[in-house]
Amino acid sequence: MSRIDRILASAEQHCREQGARMTPRRRQVMNLLLAQAGPQSAYQLLDQFKDRYQSNAQPPTIYRALDFLVQQGLAHRLSSTNQYLACDHITCRHGHKGTVFLLCDECGGVQETPLAGAAVSELEQTLDTLGFEIQQEPLLEVHGRCANCAL
Ligand SMILES: [Zn+2]
Ligand SMILES: [Zn+2]
Repeated sequence: MSRIDRILASAEQHCREQGARMTPRRRQVMNLLLAQAGPQSAYQLLDQFKDRYQSNAQPPTIYRALDFLVQQGLAHRLSSTNQYLACDHITCRHGHKGTVFLLCDECGGVQETPLAGAAVSELEQTLDTLGFEIQQEPLLEVHGRCANCAL
């Protein structure tokens, strides 16, 4: 089984447990996300989808599948760049509380990493004091330069 097949199997199991359905189309879009090293725009994914699966596919096809995958926590939308990427933790399946995305502005790479528990509770306390409710994951997107590019 390839790395992608293993992750897809995990993703399907996750959906079953949530009572959600991984349709063939959703699976295909997930497959495209997993095949990419970095984040992709919906239009890049649409082009790949057309090349690989269905030459007359329309944008709503991709958007609906992406919405589903994001809802299930299997993919993430980066709001600062309006791009999508596969969750990096599908097989280990920890939650997304305090997830931070580190976006390298030089190579375009993205790292998904959890904030330390203490930092999350401090942030939550601060927001609580302000009466501010977090509605959307990921929690934070940080732009900068990754360790590779900084060399
Ligand atoms: Zn994730
Ligand atoms: Zn970089």
